[in-house]
Amino acid sequence: MTIELDLNGAVALVTGAGRGIGRDIALALAVAGADVAVNDLADEAACAAVVAGVEECGRRGLVVMADVSDEQQVEAMVVRVEDELGPLSVVVNNAGITRDNVVMMMSAADFDAVVATHLRGTFLVSKAAARRMFRRRAGSIINMSSVVGRRGNAGQVNYAAAKAGILGLTKSLAKELGGRGVRVNAIAPGYIDTAMTQALPEEARKLIVDNTPLRAIGAPADVADAVVFLASPRARFITGVTLPVDGGLGV
Ligand code: NAP
Repeated sequence: MTIELDLNGAVALVTGAGRGIGRDIALALAVAGADVAVNDLADEAACAAVVAGVEECGRRGLVVMADVSDEQQVEAMVVRVEDELGPLSVVVNNAGITRDNVVMMMSAADFDAVVATHLRGTFLVSKAAARRMFRRRAGSIINMSSVVGRRGNAGQVNYAAAKAGILGLTKSLAKELGGRGVRVNAIAPGYIDTAMTQALPEEARKLIVDNTPLRAIGAPADVADAVVFLASPRARFITGVTLPVDGGLGV
């Protein structure tokens, strides 16, 4: 039996890839052999640095700035990726924001902004990619959820709702697209050391570590490794699942 281990010939799009987990995902996909389009909302210089890293791996990279919650920008982004890199075979919906507050203090605008970036963004990018993958009968979509989407978290009603929504979207899309050879999976990271979590007070970080069976905060590379696995032919019989990468926090 032969199992393909690499992503040679794949064209990947990673949203929110200028920094944090997305940056590591883009670079790990390039190391595995994929050409990678690097999307972000505002920080073009950061994206260009990630593309330089992709090119150091001998792969082609492309900066594609776009707001994932804007339908026209998303469609234009996907068209440009396919025009310049070729048919998309891997999409990682990773872009995200937080606007934390207790529900009594949370504005409707902060609720909407978080849901728009995570859930509407995942829907729009998946829709644009799915149309094309469906025709070609191949592709892998990986959606970034969170341990918070599985368990909830005080102070994050908006974020938890969006991340739980992504799990429903993932399972539904897996059922819609599976017959055409397109796989759709989610990853649920625990606490990962990025700008998003570095703002947490030391006390809160300690509490998280104490409640994590592996007694650690994860690194972006831990999530990137899981993405490469789910994107690769090694995961060819896996669809509709949520893979926790959380040191056991969600158990
Ligand atoms: P991060 O460092 O804050 O990076 C988020 C990225 O998303 C940034 O590059 C940001 O771009 C981009 N972005 C935000 N809004 C966007 C939009 N509308 N369109 C396109 N790009 C947009 O976050 P992270 O910690 O790496 O998290 C990455 C993903 O993992 C998120 O979905 C997050 O919810 C999830 N996650 C993280 C953790 C964790 O512990 N860190 C745990 C579970 C899940 P700008 O720089 O231009 O703002």
